[in-house]
Amino acid sequence: MNREIKEKILNKIKEYDRIFIFRHLRPDGDCMGASKGLKEIIKESFPEKQVYLIDGQTSEYLAFLGEDDREVADDYYADSLAIVVDTGNMERISNQKFRLCEEVIKIDHHIDRTPYGDISWVEDWRSSLCEMIVDFYNTFSDELKLSSAAAYYLYTGMVTDSGRFRYSGVSGETMRLAGLLLDKGVDTENLYANLYLDDWDNFKFKAYLYDTMKRTENGVAYVYIDAETQKRFNLSFETASASVSAMDSIKGCLCWLAFIENPSNDGSIRVRLRSRFMEINTLAEQYNGGGHANASGATVYSMEEMEALISGADAMVKEYKENNRGWL
Ligand code: AMP
Repeated sequence: MNREIKEKILNKIKEYDRIFIFRHLRPDGDCMGASKGLKEIIKESFPEKQVYLIDGQTSEYLAFLGEDDREVADDYYADSLAIVVDTGNMERISNQKFRLCEEVIKIDHHIDRTPYGDISWVEDWRSSLCEMIVDFYNTFSDELKLSSAAAYYLYTGMVTDSGRFRYSGVSGETMRLAGLLLDKGVDTENLYANLYLDDWDNFKFKAYLYDTMKRTENGVAYVYIDAETQKRFNLSFETASASVSAMDSIKGCLCWLAFIENPSNDGSIRVRLRSRFMEINTLAEQYNGGGHANASGATVYSMEEMEALISGADAMVKEYKENNRGWL
């Protein structure tokens, strides 16, 4: 599928001596895995090329994937190719120096609301961006090389963005491409230990979450974690934000929301929206956000806005339940 665009991308990679890879702010497992995995593939396949991933941002729970490259002088970016992965709009690109590069390629699996780039390859039905990178490798496997290190990065993204191959975007193709990675040798015991083992203190925080989460009349589960609570449990912003997953298996709650106050006290509250069966991204778009049908992000700036978002979600669940069968 989309072989022509992939060919164009491969030709651009071949054309440039220096390539920079970019990703989005607050990187998740998929964009970390895709950026690092793609870098490895290009480096392995074209050892004479300079490939940089200069970001400086990581997430604590993904620190095991290792650091990025050190910053280089601005003039290094000129005459080079920028490949941006997993980032729907240009404002969310974490290293804005992509603007210094000569040409920009967008590779993404979010709904393409704001197209950008000289070449854009977007497949919003893909369960992860890493799946697209593995597909890219697989399309040109006679020319490209995939090491076990690259396979580890890419498998990390496939696993994390698909909820361990559970979400609806997962297809037969997803599993075939994941299988290809396993054939390259991924240490899954090490990977799952890094991803899923939890600190004792975090278990105590989860107990607090289960105790304080609320539910609306029609089935929206939500939590609000203010800055004080984050301090009390000694939580990083990332750990506090991960609380959204604690609500993902409540029968009848088709939508669940985590509101996390920004500890820098700038008045913003991060919102993580999740749903099953029904779509949630249109709601996120009303609150400075966006994302996927079942997983989106947004930002609100007051308690009133937070309540309005919860009411909006409640109305959407109500409408969905009234008009559809088979949900749980
Ligand atoms: P999060 O809950 O922040 O992990 O976001 C879930 C999904 O929505 C991710 O794929 C994000 O890339 C996407 N997303 C989060 N915030 C935004 C935003 N402000 N605009 C567009 N997409 C977003």
